[in-house]
Amino acid sequence: MILVGRHPVLMGDAKSPLCIFCEIIARRSPAHIVYEDEACVAFLDLFPFTRGHLLLVPRHHIDRLTDLPESEYPGFLRALSHICQRVERLSRHYNVSANQGELAGQIVFHLHFHLIPRYGEANPFRTHPRERLDEVDAQEVVRILAAP
Ligand code: 5GP
Ligand code: ZN
Repeated sequence: MILVGRHPVLMGDAKSPLCIFCEIIARRSPAHIVYEDEACVAFLDLFPFTRGHLLLVPRHHIDRLTDLPESEYPGFLRALSHICQRVERLSRHYNVSANQGELAGQIVFHLHFHLIPRYGEANPFRTHPRERLDEVDAQEVVRILAAP
């Protein structure tokens, strides 16, 4: 079991500018990518709250939603809506959320929306520590979500 915690590489902070999501987008770090277009990439969260927990990120590095140029709103929202349709292959019930700022729970400072399928479980957001993604099941989840 591995804890999600504060870590300079995950956070991409001033001391360590390396951003794990930029590394994933550039294919220098592994991830289960289920969708990508010219503006966005979506991949499985490494410490999922529930099965199929995804992160949707813009390709270029910005910390938070208010840094997203207005010209990119349509592309991002289109991708978000499209990913929601794919998530509905797993469940019609899901949370879409974005933590903005450390006090709101943001640990990776590259804008991302969480898409968290819900299956009737009790509040999964209080699970601590969260278990690392099951790599075998992840293959099956990718098979379901990556199909166009
Ligand atoms: P935040 O708390 O910043 O809104 O969410 C960051 C998310 O990124 C967390 O749910 C965490 O599990 C996920 N995460 C952190 N590091 C990695 C990684 O290296 N790969 C993937 N796929 N997800 C990560
Ligand atoms: Zn980044």
